[in-house]
Amino acid sequence: MAEADSVAVIGLGRFGSSLALELMASGTEVLGIDANEEVVQDHNARLTQVVRADATKEEVLRQLAIDEFDRAVVAIGHDIKASILVASLLLQLKVPVIWAKALDEQHGRILEQLGVQHVVYPEKDMGRRVAHLVRGAAADYL
Ligand code: ATP
Repeated sequence: MAEADSVAVIGLGRFGSSLALELMASGTEVLGIDANEEVVQDHNARLTQVVRADATKEEVLRQLAIDEFDRAVVAIGHDIKASILVASLLLQLKVPVIWAKALDEQHGRILEQLGVQHVVYPEKDMGRRVAHLVRGAAADYL
């Protein structure tokens, strides 16, 4: 399924799910991978393809021809070991562009040191954005 505009999203928690569904809505083909059966069932028919698998296993990623995707997103956060392992495999398998979510600076630094091109901090970034909104709302009352 790896067409030009296709993305593999690994981990369909709140962040990965929202990202995958938004990409689908904008016409991108999305392969979603998650280890949890319930999560996979919940995304069935909502993504181009959904697979239940442990993405830390190299043979799993090879079978899914992950190297044929131009872009992949590691959307696993709390299990830092899994996040790092998956990022390392994606790099080894030469996925050209990798995005990964980091929970904190240390996690982010390791991902960057591995060679992940785009590290995002959703919780930190959202906190900053909301601070702007709150400040804006307070200014309305001045
Ligand atoms: P969020 O805040 O986005 O809900 P999170 O930061 O709590 O997520 P995790 O709970 O670590 O992140 O993982 C998000 C998703 O990734 C979960 O649905 C989980 O089942 C899946 N996941 C975790 N480890 C693996 C793995 N090795 N292979 C595939 N999926 C995994």
